[in-house]
Amino acid sequence: MKAERYRIEPGTEVDLSSWDPADHAMAPDGKEAARKTIKQLNRRLTELQELMYAQGKHKVLMVLQAMDTGGKDGAIRKVFRGVNPQGVKVTGFKKPTGLELAHDYLWRVHAHTPARGEIAVFNRSHYEDVLVVRVHDLVPPEVWSRRYEHINAFEKLLADEGTTILKFYLHISKQDQKERLQARIDEPDKNWKFAKGDLAERALWDNYMEAFEAVLSRTSTDHSPWFIVPANAKWYRDLVILEVLVETLEHLQMRYPEPEEGLQDIIID
Ligand code: ATP
Ligand code: MG
Repeated sequence: MKAERYRIEPGTEVDLSSWDPADHAMAPDGKEAARKTIKQLNRRLTELQELMYAQGKHKVLMVLQAMDTGGKDGAIRKVFRGVNPQGVKVTGFKKPTGLELAHDYLWRVHAHTPARGEIAVFNRSHYEDVLVVRVHDLVPPEVWSRRYEHINAFEKLLADEGTTILKFYLHISKQDQKERLQARIDEPDKNWKFAKGDLAERALWDNYMEAFEAVLSRTSTDHSPWFIVPANAKWYRDLVILEVLVETLEHLQMRYPEPEEGLQDIIID
């Protein structure tokens, strides 16, 4: 796989400071050439998703996590441009409601996993329960520290039952986040995206990096791998995600279902 270099081998201790958020290794010919590739990959994704929907056999789950302004929304918009919305279900996971908090943390997640023929995209996910929850001590360490194992078991269950899982951590630099937050203040059309609370989270950058490193080190498995996507450049982020997604779908070797017999003899009057 072209994007293999960004896949975390199970058991690797990830040190995010050694991962360059501005890496462009997969695009040696630069941005313009990459744009062409992105277009082609996006078209191929459209075909593959149609095939997946028609065949109604495979299920794909794509998880997106990132720091604030990391580009989750933009990635969804660009990667799935032109793809039939009927076959793609996007779920955003916000602060849990009272009802959600009254259950275990995976309760709200399971219902949104993909059905046969569907691609489900998680904009944030159950990983918040070992990220924001860990950083803010929303539950005691003995509670969150057990969750990595739960999550691995949960994803194993999904995989055993036929779900292909791909997880993407969109890696931006702290400096890049600063510029993106500043743009949300400076550009009136972006003001709505600015939340003062994002600054409090930014102050906890190092704690978040540590929490992400634990996630990437402990929950990347053969059946549910993490990819660290260099995301300072938006086009490069989209290129990496598309490469992984398209290549994974190609490997499923999908076929349109067999047509009903005798179709060629039918005369419609
Ligand atoms: P985003 O920032 O993802 O683009 P948004 O700005 O529309 O989305 P926010 O309210 O900023 O919406 O993001 C969702 C918030 O919910 C985040 O701060 C996230 O950490 C928080 N959140 C998600 N899941 C949980 C959870 N399980 N426990 C506590 N907080 C959570
Ligand atoms: Mg936000």
